[in-house]
Amino acid sequence: MNQTPTVETILAQAGRDDSGRSRAFPADVPIGVTYARDEQYATAGPYAYLRDQGSPGIDRVEQVLARLEGGRQAVLFSSGLAASAAAFSSLPAGSRVVVPDVMYFGLTAWLRRFGTEAGLDVVEVPTGDLEALRSAVAAAPTALVWVETPANPTWVVTDIGAAADIAHAAGALLGVDNTVATPVHCNPLALGADVVMHSATKYLNGHDDVVAGALVLPEPTSALAEHVASGVVAARRLGGAVPGGLEVYLLTRGLRTLAVRMEAVSRTALSVAEHFDVHPLVERVAYPGLLSDPGHEVAAKQMHGGFSGMLSLFVRGDAQDALAVANATRVFIRATSLGGTASLIEHRFTFEGPGSRSPRNMLRISVGLEPVGDLVDDLEQALDRVLGGGEGDPRP
Ligand SMILES: *Cc1c(COP(=O)(O)O)cnc(C)c1O
Repeated sequence: MNQTPTVETILAQAGRDDSGRSRAFPADVPIGVTYARDEQYATAGPYAYLRDQGSPGIDRVEQVLARLEGGRQAVLFSSGLAASAAAFSSLPAGSRVVVPDVMYFGLTAWLRRFGTEAGLDVVEVPTGDLEALRSAVAAAPTALVWVETPANPTWVVTDIGAAADIAHAAGALLGVDNTVATPVHCNPLALGADVVMHSATKYLNGHDDVVAGALVLPEPTSALAEHVASGVVAARRLGGAVPGGLEVYLLTRGLRTLAVRMEAVSRTALSVAEHFDVHPLVERVAYPGLLSDPGHEVAAKQMHGGFSGMLSLFVRGDAQDALAVANATRVFIRATSLGGTASLIEHRFTFEGPGSRSPRNMLRISVGLEPVGDLVDDLEQALDRVLGGGEGDPRP
């Protein structure tokens, strides 16, 4: 029998190591950062110091991620931003990069500050609009196109296959931030991407107690791709953004339930989105799983098994109203981040402060593992109290 293991089995058995001497399951994740040497100062195996060669625990997580994404290699980092920064830092000096105008705000901030300082020519465009992407890439020689889909915080969808064609026709690589979809719902390498990035802080770990990130790369098919592949490994070793043993242990443990967690949050998020899509106190719901969502058709083509657990509600009101609705919830935790067991609600406009480009009446929701009824009832009572003339208006 020669079965290819399913995604669910690979995940359920994350941390398995049949070659390990102890045969423990899960295999031990070393906490030590250094390895004793013999009289000739040689190490017994491939590891000498955690930052330089990583560890068997890191190797096992990387193997799981490479298999899930269909990549040749994965490189684990101490955060999603460190992973993204490693990808951009590995480009030849003076490279032109085309990135989304709306994406994870931390990467935008890094690119504006350090990317530009390092000599990258950073061009921001709405990558969900393929014509805008095509003309931005055609305007000058480009090394990397970066997309995030569905993109934080409005869940705009970018056609990965079309973006790959546009990038490759111009000799550029395509990088995809696959944090929100996860490898359970989307595999960008199979659609033509050259680099996949994950904030493992989010769904991959899934318990709000680890900061980590990863890049996954296919077999390089160009000199530029080879340059980046060797660059990202060197970026971790020399830049130092390597996760410690405790984080790697927790991440391996979190990965084991990723498939069931994604199935649950995707199902619940769709029900919440459908419920509030036709609601007198809600202007609109952004969720690629909704038939009415502008990104649905492309999302349905490139995602499988669900549309993840992130959605945004645009309440009928202004910034104060949206903030008041968030304040009136009791089940949701008012906090940033996403992809954990507990549902979070966030008024991005208030969170980002003056100068925020987030829609004022938008509430970003990360659906967790609570039953759908608990979440719907909580949002219903909060909307009613603030906007429906219900009891006890909690407006600040
Ligand atoms: C959180 C996040 C990041 C950054 O990851 P960190 O682990 O916080 O550094 C990047 N992209 C997306 C979509 C994210 O949600």
